[in-house]
Amino acid sequence: MRYISTRGAADALDFEGVTLTGLASDGGLFLPERWPRFSRGDVAAMAGLSYPELAARVMAPFVAGSLTQDRLLTLCSSAYGRFAHEAVTPLVQLDAQHWLLELFHGPTLAFKDVALQMLGLLFEEFLAHSDKHLTIVGATSGDTGSAAIHAVAGLGKIDIFMIHPAGRVSDVQRRQMTTVSASNVHNIAIEGSFDDAQAMVKRMFADDAINGRFRIGAVNSINWARLMAQVVYYFAAALQLGAPGRSIAFSVPTGNFGDVFAGYVAARMGLPIERLIVATNINDILHRALSTGDYSAGAVTPTAAPSMDIQVSSNFERLLFDAGGRDGAGMQAQMAAFEKKKAMRLSDLQIGGTGTLFRSARADEKDTTLAMRWASEHCGEIIDPHTAIGLHAARHSDLPESVPIVTLATAHPAKFPDAVEAATGQRPQVPDRVGDLFALEEKFTTLPNDYSAVADYVAAHATPVR
Ligand SMILES: *Cc1c(COP(=O)(O)O)cnc(C)c1O
Repeated sequence: MRYISTRGAADALDFEGVTLTGLASDGGLFLPERWPRFSRGDVAAMAGLSYPELAARVMAPFVAGSLTQDRLLTLCSSAYGRFAHEAVTPLVQLDAQHWLLELFHGPTLAFKDVALQMLGLLFEEFLAHSDKHLTIVGATSGDTGSAAIHAVAGLGKIDIFMIHPAGRVSDVQRRQMTTVSASNVHNIAIEGSFDDAQAMVKRMFADDAINGRFRIGAVNSINWARLMAQVVYYFAAALQLGAPGRSIAFSVPTGNFGDVFAGYVAARMGLPIERLIVATNINDILHRALSTGDYSAGAVTPTAAPSMDIQVSSNFERLLFDAGGRDGAGMQAQMAAFEKKKAMRLSDLQIGGTGTLFRSARADEKDTTLAMRWASEHCGEIIDPHTAIGLHAARHSDLPESVPIVTLATAHPAKFPDAVEAATGQRPQVPDRVGDLFALEEKFTTLPNDYSAVADYVAAHATPVR
């Protein structure tokens, strides 16, 4: 499989290339040159496969040319063998036609483990055949950092530098990063905000003194391999609920548009999906864009669902490119204008190209609290604030009663104990498998909010490419 950039000016790469590269050289994001397609019979034949077998079946066309089928299955078996639930992503029924898809049974209790456990193994696989060394730099407001660190800790040819804003991530989130003692893990707390951290990372990709001396890799959802791994659980859930004989709807708590884009990919591949509900909190740029065509960014307002406190969703570009007729030059011009004005209108083709597949909805803080309370009182389920936003959107959708709807449960409630306790009166406990984070020693370096200080630190601790 070959991958092309959404901005049309970067060389096409194979799967190994896109996995190790992250962002395309023209500033765009990589997508497969064409969508692989499963027939109804192919989908029917997936029923009854184990999660690792299903994962290998769904990912096979995307990795063709870079991994053999046997090797892919081995990697899927080890990545998903590390999950605490045999089904990996189990479904829990809430009422007659509404299910939760629990995506938080991985090592760091959020859905990001599903993709990052696989991505860590893919990095290791592709680096094993070469003398390359990969330096991962990332910025995190919480969940991505711990999931990425747990995916690559201890790997010989990788160093990871994860930058978080000092004092602005929760204690559980910070300790999930800083108590990992492997020598290739470098936690940096900067005396600044998440946006400052993110800007430093982007600058490092463009800084020849860093990206020339070191091979810089990405672990956020600009990396195609992450989205690919997420396509699998849409298949897993739909098959259990009767696909391909029935068409299923999904409600997806959305921030960077990665998770819900994976659902779009599943639909393009032939999975019968009735509807994808893009659920946002009060940072609702995507809700406005999908309902009115107006994509304009405002300031970010902090909420009880911090992983969705995002204004500019990087993966939305992938949808606009694909739905809008795959016009790379047009995308380049549209994004350049957006970067200047922080606002743009979607074209008729971009709006029409997504057809009736997408709907959007917005939950404010009160809706979020009430959704957590409803799940607790009516179903005996304690859910986290991100999941609650998806649940609110699902319960207010206008779907016919015959359509099964699945809300993606993106984090374990114990990651956000204060908001959960305030809504339900119950304080969720961190599962035993995580260990006693509060008994372990923390390791991190605090640096000033200054690009040179951080870049110098990375340069002093990373391994140069030879
Ligand atoms: C990252 C995250 C999201 C948002 O997912 P996107 O792929 O960025 O849309 C939602 N919920 C939780 C708990 C997350 O960690």
